[in-house]
Amino acid sequence: MTTHTAQIIDGNALSRQLREAVAARCLSLKVKGVIPGLAVVLVGENPASQVYVRNKVKACSDAGLHSVLEKYDASMTEAELLMRIDALNNDPAIHGILVQLPLPPHIDANKVIEAIAPSKDVDGFHVASAGALMVGQPGFWPCTPYGCMKMLESIGYDLRGKHAVVIGRSNIVGKPMALMLLQKNATVTVCHSATVNLKAMTLQADVIVAAVGKRNVLTADMVKPGAVVLDVGMNRNDEGKLCGDVDFAGVSQVAGYITPVPGGVGPMTITMLLVNTLEAAERAAKKP
Ligand code: NAP
Repeated sequence: MTTHTAQIIDGNALSRQLREAVAARCLSLKVKGVIPGLAVVLVGENPASQVYVRNKVKACSDAGLHSVLEKYDASMTEAELLMRIDALNNDPAIHGILVQLPLPPHIDANKVIEAIAPSKDVDGFHVASAGALMVGQPGFWPCTPYGCMKMLESIGYDLRGKHAVVIGRSNIVGKPMALMLLQKNATVTVCHSATVNLKAMTLQADVIVAAVGKRNVLTADMVKPGAVVLDVGMNRNDEGKLCGDVDFAGVSQVAGYITPVPGGVGPMTITMLLVNTLEAAERAAKKP
């Protein structure tokens, strides 16, 4: 049996706590006649996407949010989808709009995301949301890195002056993650596929966020004893089981804290979607 020296940051347990808080805030909005509403738009039959949207819609109803799942055939045109987004932008019962990616190749995903009203961009993918994060203004933070920040907060981790290494620089995880860590006064290094010596970088890190999408990108010999390791990756191992980017068995012998896969960052992503949708509804309710 493997003995862990690292403490596990349990994404399921933290999600339960945060979702209870969301449910309580939903109730107080209900008293004012507002029910936070999320529209989830799915185009096409991608099997993984079908599972994701089902989970998102279920999480909404469990927490007392209103949600609508709009499923369209893969033959839907870009113009038709843009018209639907426009209608949702103008629907007062909808506070958050999520378009499940990937979209079929004939639809320009950027164009669709830019069509979402920034006040309803609960995924945080709109350039207005990215810009707000960059300059430190209020906006919606992308759910996965936001969830990682909540995990660090849950262990009372003070990032000031710490060295954080983010592996991966995608627009939805790596880049916003780096900006959030920077905002909390960490010194941030961002690594990617052209990084020459990843191990030399990660060995300096107090916090490592792995967001690559490849198994065993981070192994025990690459981690400073006591470091905090957050594993965003979602991969399949040889037995077909879900696993992260981090060699959990090895790294958990060295790290101070570690997130498991499954049961780590994954559930936090959906939780932060609920938080963002609630926040969107609260902001809308404050408007005259
Ligand atoms: P992505 O867009 O494919 O980006 C992957 C990043 O990893 C890229 O920046 C790439 O560098 C970098 N990379 C690739 N090989 C590398 C290597 N050998 N060493 C260092 N960096 C390397 O992926 P993503 O959307 O950010 O997602 C990353 C992973 O997180 C995936 O497994 C995804 O399924 C998972 N994910 C999980 C959740 C969740 O809720 N748990 C949410 C979102 C994503 P270049 O830029 O140079 O190509």
